Amino acid sequence: MACGFGVARGGARGYMPAPAMTENSTLPILFVPDKRLRLKARPIGHADGDMVRALAPKMLATMYAAPGIGLAAPQIGEGLRLVVLDIQPKEKPDPMVLVNPEIIAESHEVATREEGCLSLPGQYADVTRPARVKLRYLDLTGAKREIEGDGLLSACLQHEIDHLDGVLFVDYLSALKRNMILRKLAKDLKSQQRG
Ligand code: ZN
Repeated sequence: MACGFGVARGGARGYMPAPAMTENSTLPILFVPDKRLRLKARPIGHADGDMVRALAPKMLATMYAAPGIGLAAPQIGEGLRLVVLDIQPKEKPDPMVLVNPEIIAESHEVATREEGCLSLPGQYADVTRPARVKLRYLDLTGAKREIEGDGLLSACLQHEIDHLDGVLFVDYLSALKRNMILRKLAKDLKSQQRG
């Protein structure tokens, strides 16, 4: 799996309406070192409602096609605080859309998990983060929701929210390890372009 988080587990909420699942059009994903991945995304307001309801299904389609388990709007060049994710197995999809997600609590306990990213295709590394987080967000109807997660869900939520602040999983690694990954990514992308 391209998003590289290992085995999926349950606990996700916030279902998309069924039509979203039939969305076919996918969007191009930005790769590191695209500067747009480093910008802080802006909060979504009332005026953005229609645009966000149109964009979210396309982001989900893009994520599933990649395939990945999470995608943040900056990864498709939209500087908006919008995240889609689905950590469930393909046979049992449970898409989530998070508008303006915010971490409101996190555990002192940490957990280490291998992460990857659709913006750094083929690159993986162990990242240590708080083991559990609690989030506040809006769903696509504008209703306030909260979600609490551990394991894969917790790591994925934190990884995606980081994208909204221009933070990438490689930022948690030593400079040596980070540079190794970035060099390998540049090489891989170059050889893909040639090939
Ligand atoms: Zn990512």
